[in-house]
Amino acid sequence: MTDCLFCKIVAKQVPADIVMEVGRALAFRDINPQAPTHVLVVPKSHYENVAALAAADDGLADDLLKACHAVAVQEGVADAGYRVVFNTGLGAGQTVFHVHAHVLGGRDLTWPPG
Ligand code: 5GP
Repeated sequence: MTDCLFCKIVAKQVPADIVMEVGRALAFRDINPQAPTHVLVVPKSHYENVAALAAADDGLADDLLKACHAVAVQEGVADAGYRVVFNTGLGAGQTVFHVHAHVLGGRDLTWPPG
């Protein structure tokens, strides 16, 4: 998808601080971090949101979730606790319509989120 920011990051047309590339997933640091660890994990192929991802070919959502955990381990936040968030739809604060998981950690995370 030519107009998609995260497709451009996947294609290395837009620079990003990539922390992991594993199979069909890419992980890079959020440009506006909300926690000491704030990494975005995306499928390399374009899916707009969780609904599209859930309907995708076998195992892609599984790959993405495993990549989230691998990032948390690599970032050293897995033991203390971390959060995986998919903002889905405008009402939930989704601003980039290429599905992505936020992996957040490195500080105490309160609940409920805003
Ligand atoms: P959303 O609001 O869609 O759940 O999350 C989009 C995220 O993408 C935001 O946390 C935002 O800071 C991040 N973001 C927006 N533009 C860029 C960019 O150019 N590079 C990176 N690395 N992150 C971005």
